Amino acid sequence: MQAISDICIIGGGISGLYLAHQLKQSQPGLRIQLFEALEAVGGRVQTEPMLDGQFRAEFGAVRIEPDLQPLMDRFVQELGIAVTPILSHEAGSAILPAAERLTAAERAVLERAAGGDAAWALLWYGIEQAIGDQWDFAGDRLDRPGRAADKAGLRRDARFAGRPLYQQGMWNVLADVLSHEAVEFAREKGAFYNFKNQNPNAADWICQLLDMRLMQRPSYIPQGGMQALVDAAEQAVRGAGVEIHLRHQLDAIVERDDGDLDLRLRHGDAGATVRTRRVILALPRRALEALAPSLPAPVLACLDAVLCFPIVWASCVMADPWWGPDTAPGSGEGASIRAAHFESHPATPGAYGLAMFYNDDPWCHYWANLAEQPGARFPHKNRPVRSADPRLRLALERTLQQTFGRDDVPRLLEWGLCDWSAAPFGAGVHFWKPGRDSAQVMATLAAFALGADGRAPQVHICGEAYSDFQGFFEGALRSAQRVLQLLPHAATPSHHQGFHDVCN
Ligand SMILES: Cc1cc2nc3c(=O)[nH]c(=O)nc-3n(C[C@H](O)[C@H](O)[C@H](O)COP(=O)(O)OP(=O)(O)OC[C@H]3O[C@@H](n4cnc5c(N)ncnc54)[C@H](O)[C@@H]3O)c2cc1C
Repeated sequence: MQAISDICIIGGGISGLYLAHQLKQSQPGLRIQLFEALEAVGGRVQTEPMLDGQFRAEFGAVRIEPDLQPLMDRFVQELGIAVTPILSHEAGSAILPAAERLTAAERAVLERAAGGDAAWALLWYGIEQAIGDQWDFAGDRLDRPGRAADKAGLRRDARFAGRPLYQQGMWNVLADVLSHEAVEFAREKGAFYNFKNQNPNAADWICQLLDMRLMQRPSYIPQGGMQALVDAAEQAVRGAGVEIHLRHQLDAIVERDDGDLDLRLRHGDAGATVRTRRVILALPRRALEALAPSLPAPVLACLDAVLCFPIVWASCVMADPWWGPDTAPGSGEGASIRAAHFESHPATPGAYGLAMFYNDDPWCHYWANLAEQPGARFPHKNRPVRSADPRLRLALERTLQQTFGRDDVPRLLEWGLCDWSAAPFGAGVHFWKPGRDSAQVMATLAAFALGADGRAPQVHICGEAYSDFQGFFEGALRSAQRVLQLLPHAATPSHHQGFHDVCN
């Protein structure tokens, strides 16, 4: 007889690993299998050793903000991971808007913010104009009792210009309360996260910005890079008895007559079927869309509720670097990039340096075109991000020349690129579209049945893409928590033996 697992988790990103970890902590007897399509778990984390491991270039997530990410912070502590604070944030632009095209009130805002971040100041002036009567900005604190419920109420009920805020795009709202110069300046020069390059849902974005505004404690990164987090999580999950199957891609889910599920998986050239009581899809939008034939219509209707934001990182190691240990991150002005980070070699800072260039819209498209194999350009996990492509090398040399205002040719030793738009990810990060009710979509995806015959839910979706803190690990963990709260009623350990048996 084919054995059954209690829960199968699809996707070994941070949400899948966290779910497996939490489930085993609360119900050690559960039979859990985790299937990951790629050669390694970790998802949108990619720490790449460069110069024989003397540098660690992060091509995916780079920092954890403990004030913004309390669940993630607790997970790091539970895993016993040592961390290092990151004291520098991405640099803002030094360029200022044309004062004569601003309103008198906007000019006063900039005078008060003199020497600070002009785009950030104008953004907050606009937000306060739009919803200042609906949120107590002056008395806001992250630890204020009842704040989370108030924020959920704001997300749901806030209104602007006589209409629900969530039905409106952020730039539509700001265009009604700011001058065009202020809107354009904030959109083009703001360093406040990559969602600004499209038109995010105003209610969801303001709720997220409300938290970002109050952040105080410095961000940190695990010692050993983000890969140390993935390694510790994988070790803990395996140690707790979860079976992790790498290079297993879920292709379809079929409901059996008895209500159990058959998972059709691809493993290299072979097919495999695994029987389970429940499945948790810890996947982003594009990976879920690839499963569309298996998903019911109400779930499919939710999938396009989020925007997909492309991100491309390009990095290089340089001999005789043009920067030193105290060089600030660059704003991206003067080069085809969004932002630059510079690191010095810890032992010989004059000898080697690592430059990392972050690119969201529009510059990500320029860099994506420099990948070695367009169409299959995502060098994730199974082969190094490092590249031998001379076009990429030339682009990096020119970017360094533009960034530092020099004509001589930098001496590059290694270089690489990572484009998160390619399969199986389809995006660097996601955000809610205007007009979509994020709370309703999250509730629909958190638990559903495959058939329309009134059966209890057996399928759950979680992950950063459909969460209430997108773009961050915290969103992935929060959505996993939502699924965990729905599970205990039904996820009782089964008593079958050899649950990982697979029939080919
Ligand atoms: C460049 C970049 C920088 C970032 N910086 C930060 C940061 O500094 N701080 C922060 O908190 N967050 C950051 N993020 C966001 C953070 O990386 C994500 O929120 C988080 O990693 C998402 O985890 P997830 O589990 O939801 O999804 P993913 O990490 O996307 O995991 C999904 C997994 O599912 C697998 N998969 C897909 N399809 C299938 C299938 N059919 N069968 C089996 N497996 C499948 C994938 O291979 C992947 O491993 C950044 C993201 C990017 C891209």
